Amino acid sequence: MRVVIVGAGILGSSVAYHLSLNRDVAITVIDEAHQGKATLAGAGIVCPWATKVTDPDFYRFYAAGGAYYRPLVSALKEKGETEFGYRQVGALVLADTDEQLQEIEARVLPRVANVPEAGEVRRVGAAEIKAMFPPLRDGLSALYIPGGARVEARGLAGAMMRAAQANGAQLHQGHANITAEGSRAIVKLDGKVIDADLVVVTAGAWVNQTLTNIGASIGVVPQRGQIVHLRVKEETIDWPVLLPQGSHYMLAFDDNRVVVGATRENGVGFDCRLTAGGQAEVLNFGLALAPGLADATHIETRVGIRPMAESVKPLIGHLSGFENILIGNGLGAGGLTMGPLAGKLLSQVALGQTPDLDLTPYAVRSL
Ligand code: FAD
Repeated sequence: MRVVIVGAGILGSSVAYHLSLNRDVAITVIDEAHQGKATLAGAGIVCPWATKVTDPDFYRFYAAGGAYYRPLVSALKEKGETEFGYRQVGALVLADTDEQLQEIEARVLPRVANVPEAGEVRRVGAAEIKAMFPPLRDGLSALYIPGGARVEARGLAGAMMRAAQANGAQLHQGHANITAEGSRAIVKLDGKVIDADLVVVTAGAWVNQTLTNIGASIGVVPQRGQIVHLRVKEETIDWPVLLPQGSHYMLAFDDNRVVVGATRENGVGFDCRLTAGGQAEVLNFGLALAPGLADATHIETRVGIRPMAESVKPLIGHLSGFENILIGNGLGAGGLTMGPLAGKLLSQVALGQTPDLDLTPYAVRSL
């Protein structure tokens, strides 16, 4: 079978990797590397158990995505791929008041009961919190989830793609132009047809532009995220992920790097500018939570365009009206957590296998 994958973010890279484990599949990946590619900007938090999203179908996928990291990381390790910053540093779900802490426990504890990946979840007090993440302000309490992890998304996507290429997948940079003859999709790169039995469209926020020539569109809209990277003097390798009230967060990587995120900007389309308001929003949050970061060096601000599903849930499956198009999309703000699993599931659909997760709730509707 010849498969063309359009888009190599975390999702397309995962599809390529998982399909490449089957030697009968010839894989061509085309990636345009748009400015705003979400996987290049993603923070890298993998801690599904604390989410405030209550939709059960979303949560099932999100939790399964988090649980899939361990087997994926060990499978990649066997292939010599270890350089993607994955580490179970734990996550602190932060509270200012007892009431908030009780609300966090009510949300998280039922979810982590009998979930070994989450570890021994427990309350921690102000002194322990400060010891774990020294720049933080005083007076916080938290629920600590030892299984919370972080990953360098661009590194992980690269590792999966390299593993796919080692198995024979071909990667091309450029724009995949999709047209149709009847109900069959045709993919062209630089004007040349790339022969395909199946086309897997993992084009992130650019999906509707990619489907426009065939008159299709799905319920996905772009959302801009601006995220700040700082350098500190302290050793940060073990610092946990911080999940405070609200949608902002903080995490750290091995290279004295602290990442503060992120804006969630709707209605700005594919505008990838850093804005004064976006910078101020993120830095004001960061310094209020962690005043000890005031002297940190600003390294860079990344901008990514999240593919937000109007249904909130991931969209995985066949595009109706076309016999050879599969879609993977709508990973939204949790795509680094769900992307590797979503890619595995899409590869199972492509191969005609029963997917590990029932995909009925995530069916793709063409608008
Ligand atoms: P993308 O990574 O955007 O990749 C799509 C690719 O398709 C692009 O390279 C694009 O150029 C290519 N493409 C599009 N059209 C074509 C075409 N016609 N031809 C060829 N190529 C094409 N998730 C988490 O779980 N945890 C986090 O901590 C987290 N933090 C985030 C922070 C920010 C600031 C942002 C923006 C996102 C964050 N996310 C997080 C979400 C996550 O990053 C995204 O959901 C995920 O990266 C989406 O992956 P994707 O592969 O679907 O899309």
